[in-house]
Amino acid sequence: GDMEMTVDLAIIGSGPGGYGAAFRAADLGLDVALIDPRHRPGGVCLHEGCIPSKTFLFLAEMILNARRVEKMGLHFGTPRIDIAAMAAWKGEVIDNMAGGLVHLCQQRGIQLIRGISHFENATTLRLEDSELSRLKFKNAIIATGSTPITFPGTRSTTSSRIMRSAEALSLADVPHNLLIVGGGYVGLELGTVYAALGSNVQLAELQERLLPAVDPDLVAPLHRSLTELFEQIHLATAIKRMEETADHVQVTLATPNGEQEQRFDKVLVAMGRTPATTNLGLANTQVEMNDKGFIVVDEQQRTAEPNIFAVGDVVGGMMLAHTATREGRIAAEVIAGQSSTFDARAIPAVIYTDPQIAWCGLTEQQAVKENIHITVLKYPWKYSGRANTMGATDGLTKILADPESGRILGIGITGRETEGMIAEGVLAIEMGALAEDMALSLHPHPTLSETEGEAAEIFLGSPTHLL
Ligand code: FAD
Repeated sequence: GDMEMTVDLAIIGSGPGGYGAAFRAADLGLDVALIDPRHRPGGVCLHEGCIPSKTFLFLAEMILNARRVEKMGLHFGTPRIDIAAMAAWKGEVIDNMAGGLVHLCQQRGIQLIRGISHFENATTLRLEDSELSRLKFKNAIIATGSTPITFPGTRSTTSSRIMRSAEALSLADVPHNLLIVGGGYVGLELGTVYAALGSNVQLAELQERLLPAVDPDLVAPLHRSLTELFEQIHLATAIKRMEETADHVQVTLATPNGEQEQRFDKVLVAMGRTPATTNLGLANTQVEMNDKGFIVVDEQQRTAEPNIFAVGDVVGGMMLAHTATREGRIAAEVIAGQSSTFDARAIPAVIYTDPQIAWCGLTEQQAVKENIHITVLKYPWKYSGRANTMGATDGLTKILADPESGRILGIGITGRETEGMIAEGVLAIEMGALAEDMALSLHPHPTLSETEGEAAEIFLGSPTHLL
């Protein structure tokens, strides 16, 4: 189109960062336009990330639980898996959530604009595939997110046997043999889904261990469990060649024991994500990027161009939905004249594998690297009554505390239901709680949350169920 428009605030990208910013800005009285080529808001998180993956992981967990309880005397038999119905269910979940976001935008008077934006200068966007041709703004927030790194020399389309996470989450079929390239959380989560649904999953990771960025104490139980769930895990392994033929993908794996030629029905490339800044026209502004292409911002989310802010995956860091939303809200508040800053002491992360892993705050690796003195309090779940009732004795709750004051600096948990348990750790760290505070707070028995209370009791010298 050739229409033009002027707004207080133009937000580019309607993922959790973009809509978080839009909602807050509208609530603070700003006139907001939220632009995205996607049909409806939600970004990667809703349409091809967090929500579809967790929808399928919920079902995978059911299948794995059904197997787990066999040794406790409960037999469901072989599950009948209807992947078309599962994919439809996932679609319904996304649809409901997306509809909710559209409604929230409408209620707040946010203008949803379809289109791809490109900066012409620091006050004008040019739009493509849109009914608007240009949008003038006082302030802008870049929330364009990230895109998956593709394997060199391969194309990645929906028809391809070489999938990205988005294609894997369309759940077109359950391949007999599936190779996952990358042992990060996306590869492990989606590997868990496909293995539970019946694929023979092999996984190749370049580093010497899975989840190379996560505390090895937390990864060890997951590694043990995946050794059973997956057909094979190749560590310290590079993919040398990958070629798609009519009916398979031919792959050369360079393992520590030499090269292997293998055929797979499908391959999922989960090698990480890069910031989405191509064709954004940043060169027409003062916005700066670092050597990895992430947009550089200060603690108020402001770029080097004073009226342009950036939030979410495009600025790097932990690259999670909840950080994106918080950063979006901060940017909106700063634009509305408030003095907000992003100052989270504890950013929680959860990996929805079986067992799960969750952590927040300082990690042991970071403490060693930065020479921070810590006391490590470890409570193995074999001492937990609740873990025993669930057959989840492989779990671990780990607290890092300041040796002098007992102030809680970090928490890591592996086991079941860690997604809920980590919230206590986040609140503890944000409030400057001491191990004593956590130990003396009553935890209901028998629950897995007791492992947090008991780990903290170790600091006081007398945990109830551990010597
Ligand atoms: P995005 O959600 O990526 O949204 C960016 C939007 O910008 C997109 O809709 C895009 O279309 C739009 N856009 C891009 N360029 C332009 C342009 N030029 N003009 C207009 N619009 C544009 N995080 C969690 O916290 N928990 C999880 O469990 C989790 N699971 C995940 C599972 C998978 C498989 C994947 C891939 C990711 C997962 N994540 C998870 C990460 C999470 O999805 C991201 O951190 C989050 O979506 C980042 O939000 P964002 O707003 O920065 O960007």
